[in-house]
Amino acid sequence: MTIIYFTPGPSQLFPTAQKHIQQALKDDICSLSHRSNSFKVIYKEAVRGIRKLLTIPDTHEIAFLSSSLEAMERIIENMVINKSFHVIDGAFSQKWYDMTLSLGKKSLSTTLELSKPVNSLTIPKHTELICITHNETSTGIMIPLSEIYRVKKRNPSIPIALDVVSSAPYAAIDFKYIDIAFFSVQKGLGLPAGLSILIVNKRLTQKSVGSYHAFKELFKKSVDNQTPETPNVLDIYLVAQVTKDMLKKRIQAIRLETEEKADMLYNFFETCNIGRPFITDKKYRSSTTIVIDVNNKSEQIAGLLKKKRMIVGRGYGEYKNTHIRIANFPQHSMKMMKDLISAFRALK
Ligand SMILES: *Cc1c(COP(=O)(O)O)cnc(C)c1O
Repeated sequence: MTIIYFTPGPSQLFPTAQKHIQQALKDDICSLSHRSNSFKVIYKEAVRGIRKLLTIPDTHEIAFLSSSLEAMERIIENMVINKSFHVIDGAFSQKWYDMTLSLGKKSLSTTLELSKPVNSLTIPKHTELICITHNETSTGIMIPLSEIYRVKKRNPSIPIALDVVSSAPYAAIDFKYIDIAFFSVQKGLGLPAGLSILIVNKRLTQKSVGSYHAFKELFKKSVDNQTPETPNVLDIYLVAQVTKDMLKKRIQAIRLETEEKADMLYNFFETCNIGRPFITDKKYRSSTTIVIDVNNKSEQIAGLLKKKRMIVGRGYGEYKNTHIRIANFPQHSMKMMKDLISAFRALK
């Protein structure tokens, strides 16, 4: 029996990933020059796949970075001279904010209160960029996109950068309201780590702070279906293949199935005696990262599930012992989730 990874990243691979990796080895993809025409074809296919899957309009460009932490830093470098404004809903948004301070910015932040919609926040004067983490993988909070759009409607002149690392491709983003978005392939695309996808409004791609990954340099190359550095060619190839598979399955079906699986898990934990959903306000409950408060038994529970060849995430940081985190990505089938619930049910 194979092991199933319900960890929120790296996670279970997409079911077709193994086949595509084998094909890539057969076709010598890993030895391909990143300046060759064959590479450019792969690059173009990967970008086309992402654009189709997420319905990214022509107003926005797509480029590749090596991780989403890198994306956070490049975004701040290129977009912020003095200060950005950050909505903190967990450890990843906090990391992004702390990064700005390390870069010498005078950025400000506020902790999200679930009783107040994010659009009711007052944006400080002279804010150059608003940074929001759509799905906080550390806490299981997912901010409704409609609230984030309202932030943009109220502050139309301030760009918004959105971390969708653990909500893409489930999140159906309306790019009319989002200037910048990014995500890593090891979460909801079910691929090996080492590649981040950055989506930037064309108005902003001429910024040029930094060196080889200054936006201007990065997007000058991406228009020519290349990267400034030697990239993770294998992952770019896999993005091209897996987005095709997902499009075949239809993204609407994937999104609907994600919600069905999330509802099933939350319903189970509402009524079982193992634990309770950490986020009680249903409006903010993540569909892709289910966080359960298990009364300090996370080590024991994760250990018992491991014996059944199911790997769940422990809590993040300070919650290590109190939480279990279950990734609910496209690669996690309804059957896997039903088996996981049965395994939880059988825990003693
Ligand atoms: C995983 C994660 C990141 C970091 O992604 P890396 O690819 O490890 O750099 C950032 N934000 C969120 C919300 C994440 O879940």
